[in-house]
Amino acid sequence: MTEQKQEAREQWNYEELSEVLEEVKKEGYDKVALQGPDGIKDELITYADKLRNEGIEPVMIGASTFGACGIADEKAERMGAEALIHVGHTRFLHPEGADMDDFNVYYLPYREDREIMPTLREHYEEIEEETVGLVGVTQYMDRAEEAREFLEEKGYEVVEGKTGLRTTEPGQVLGCDAGAAHNIAEKVDAFVFLGSGHFHPSQVSETGEKVYVVDPYEEHIWVEPANSLDDETRAEHARVIKHKDKKKWGIVTSSKKGQNYRRAVQIAKEKLEKHGKDVYVFVEDRIFEPDYKGYGIDVYVNCACPRMTKDWQDLAFVSPDALSVLDEVEIEHE
Ligand code: SF4
Repeated sequence: MTEQKQEAREQWNYEELSEVLEEVKKEGYDKVALQGPDGIKDELITYADKLRNEGIEPVMIGASTFGACGIADEKAERMGAEALIHVGHTRFLHPEGADMDDFNVYYLPYREDREIMPTLREHYEEIEEETVGLVGVTQYMDRAEEAREFLEEKGYEVVEGKTGLRTTEPGQVLGCDAGAAHNIAEKVDAFVFLGSGHFHPSQVSETGEKVYVVDPYEEHIWVEPANSLDDETRAEHARVIKHKDKKKWGIVTSSKKGQNYRRAVQIAKEKLEKHGKDVYVFVEDRIFEPDYKGYGIDVYVNCACPRMTKDWQDLAFVSPDALSVLDEVEIEHE
């Protein structure tokens, strides 16, 4: 990162932080916790220093976070903090309606300093469709308006994404929520996605439309084909069929507030019991395969982060949706 960019990034984050600091000071908090994802841990230390300079004692949350689904309110409270500054993500709305607001959480969404507009300007002609939906990840959504204006200047009709079930920014996509795209899918012929990697675009592709990924890391626009998760879905169905005769099944959910899906657990449990299974419900903060070995259970249903990796090495890990396969096969318990 150039010195100039580093300065710009610090300036931006400091401006946002200053607003949060003002709020925190106004409330008269003495102790405030700080939490954020990998990649900006050094900045969290800077933020802690800034809190200390204001006479507020910082508490650092050790584990990094993948989303605001994992706000560390309980850990903060246990350490006597009166508020938590969650850096990196926007507020997460719980799809089952759990109260995410019962602790004082201040969100400081992270905007990536990496430039994305030069990639769009240089490669936009590769976008073949005339009517496109504009979506992306939080890190680049501060440039969505600029991208929309540019594409419209070039003759595209741009439909702005709406908020999803779990999101608060229009057009914002999470690994577990492409509602922003699904909500406008009928009006568009393709999507333009601001961000990188396959994780989020593959969710958008479930709308049945192709996704043009404006990738600031690769510095070009590449295409995520429509319905690119179909292979993953087929693999999950195969795992369920492989274990259909197993009597003991586990269901895993997370103690992270935004990944704790008790209604989904109940539905999955009832479905499995209807098929004669003995069901055991597990809860843990972070879900690692080794923790689930030794129970004599070979297959687990994921009722935590829906995008958690399914490729466990020794045990089978499947989504609740994949259980529908059990309705279509004959079961003979082992
Ligand atoms: S994809 Fe998983 S980690 Fe990301 S916001 Fe959703 S639940 Fe959280």
